[in-house]
Amino acid sequence: MTYTYIALGSNLNNPLQQIKKAIKSIDQISLTKRIKTSSFYQTKPYGFLNQPDYINAVVLLKTEINVYHFMQKIQTIELKQGRVRNLSNKWHSRIIDIDILLFGDLKICTSYLTIPHYDIYNRNFFLIPLYEITSNLVFPDGNKLSEILKKTSTNDIKII
Ligand code: ATP
Ligand code: CA
Ligand code: CA
Repeated sequence: MTYTYIALGSNLNNPLQQIKKAIKSIDQISLTKRIKTSSFYQTKPYGFLNQPDYINAVVLLKTEINVYHFMQKIQTIELKQGRVRNLSNKWHSRIIDIDILLFGDLKICTSYLTIPHYDIYNRNFFLIPLYEITSNLVFPDGNKLSEILKKTSTNDIKII
């Protein structure tokens, strides 16, 4: 059994509804139970700025399935919701994006899967909802979320 933190983001086709729909689909993943859900946050785009604001959230799940199987499940959910992925649209508008932030204490670094998420320490829309649901979180490298947050901007993020 593993605790995993998953980030959701959307800025197209009624983003709040897209996030809620993805959470419902996540709830259907076998041998997996949702333990906590953050508030929904409105954020400014990251990377490519000329696009609509995002809605972001983080959920904590408990799962019995392995990380590769879990990854397939979330990619299926993205595709089912109409996510179109191509190399030129990284960081551009999307109907739904589901990223694995943490999967227990697992560390993986391949092009298909990097865990913890490679940019976790730089994104306030990951760190702030994470803190909301687990304020005493310690990352696999031993860093405390509460310490990382001291260096994190709280600009451009608000609970809706
Ligand atoms: P970013 O990865 O910077 O948040 P993105 O989410 O827009 O950008 P995507 O196009 O959704 O990027 O994903 C690109 C690839 O990242 C996926 O095909 C997936 O194989 C890979 N990937 C690596 N690590 C992870 C992870 N922890 N969670 C989700 N996808 C991951
Ligand atoms: Ca992402
Ligand atoms: Ca992604």
